[in-house]
Amino acid sequence: MKVAILGGGAAGIISALELNQKSRIETILFDLNPLPGRKLAVTGSGRGNLTNLVQEESCYRSMSESHLLSGFRYPDPEMIRRRLREYGIPTVATDDGWVYPASNSAANVASILRAQLQARQVEIVSETKITRLSVDPDGAFQISSSDGRRFGPFSALLVASGSRAYPQLGADDSILPEIRALGIAAHDFVPALTGIVFEKADKRLSGNRLDVRAALYADRKRLAYEIGNLIFTDFGVNGPAAMNLSHLVHEPIAANKKTELSIDLLSNHSSDYLREIFHDPAFRRMPYLAIFNAVLPEKICIRFFDRWRIPLDVPAERVEPSAFKAHLKSLSDLRFLIAGTKSFRDAQVGFGGVDLNEIDPLTMRSKKIPGLYFAGEILDCIGRCGGYNLSWAFLTGMRAGRAIADLMIPN
Ligand SMILES: Cc1cc2nc3c(=O)[nH]c(=O)nc-3n(C[C@H](O)[C@H](O)[C@H](O)COP(=O)(O)OP(=O)(O)OC[C@H]3O[C@@H](n4cnc5c(N)ncnc54)[C@H](O)[C@@H]3O)c2cc1C
Repeated sequence: MKVAILGGGAAGIISALELNQKSRIETILFDLNPLPGRKLAVTGSGRGNLTNLVQEESCYRSMSESHLLSGFRYPDPEMIRRRLREYGIPTVATDDGWVYPASNSAANVASILRAQLQARQVEIVSETKITRLSVDPDGAFQISSSDGRRFGPFSALLVASGSRAYPQLGADDSILPEIRALGIAAHDFVPALTGIVFEKADKRLSGNRLDVRAALYADRKRLAYEIGNLIFTDFGVNGPAAMNLSHLVHEPIAANKKTELSIDLLSNHSSDYLREIFHDPAFRRMPYLAIFNAVLPEKICIRFFDRWRIPLDVPAERVEPSAFKAHLKSLSDLRFLIAGTKSFRDAQVGFGGVDLNEIDPLTMRSKKIPGLYFAGEILDCIGRCGGYNLSWAFLTGMRAGRAIADLMIPN
């Protein structure tokens, strides 16, 4: 009997390889794209951030009940690296734990994995959109494509069809209603790991990139905060600090709550240093601007001097301590009203998908339908920037592949 894998992304490919690790099991991989691994080939700005050595609870988020995620156990990055090496993809880690292929090429990773699929005789049905999933009374799966072809029966079906993020690379979540029709609960996807759009962006800050502390508020209640790199843009903000908060923006906006981002430009104890030099007699005769230039890019300082309505050449001694205090406050709590996030076209992942309640965490098997498995971004789990989404795709793909192999060839 045969196995069908719906989706030729990181999760679908790795599961097909694991499935055929010990002995060949007739496997058919279906994908919309001309070749599997299309999104994988562009990850990490073309470099492919494949996993991360730091793995902890806070690296992953889910709409499903929070305790469920820990039941899946976090990916073991060394296990992922070992496996990738065995497939011909040695990796290197940066000092802060981000793991990349030794080739520094995500496109090479995708092409090596495709060569492995070929070596293991995995059949690839490309440029084919699967639109229907059904289960026969005997438990076998049938699937059909948009052009009316029918495939099956299959003893096992793995759905690894990802989310809606990056439709320009073939991302598509139109299979969700079919999954729900099988009785499996799934959350609608919203864009995540993307830019945050302000009601009124400050275009004069646009282009500045710096390390900040960014906090998200809904009706004055703080929902979460991030410390990291942030880029001011014409629409609002982007960069890891904004992207890691973006999945939390949708709910308060939909509930008509006042949703704000507070940006502290003086994190890293910069305000302590500014206080020290402002009160230091050696700095009193210097331009007030030079004090702020010590910790912030000049373009930002100039923008704030304009907001504060003070000339750029004013000496520090002419500024009252109370005004200096107010200036520090405005730099450490720069507030913007949020309108939403960028769309799926600019989102690295989709937040939502198959509820984790539905899944056995060690095998990725549906708790309701024998022979049905899920892996990767179709599951309701996303990771932070830093290789966590591919970690999740590889981990769940490997688990599903091994579990299906055990099902097909019991010991
Ligand atoms: C620009 C960008 C950069 C990224 N960089 C990183 C990074 O450096 N590190 C990291 O960890 N994560 C990164 N991510 C996220 C990561 O790429 C994804 O989380 C991961 O690839 C998900 O793998 P997947 O196999 O679950 O889904 P996908 O890779 O999306 O694969 C699913 C496949 O299923 C196909 N499909 C869907 N529906 C159907 C259907 N009905 N019929 C047939 N085929 C279908 C799709 O066309 C797709 O090929 C990045 C994402 C983007 C968009």
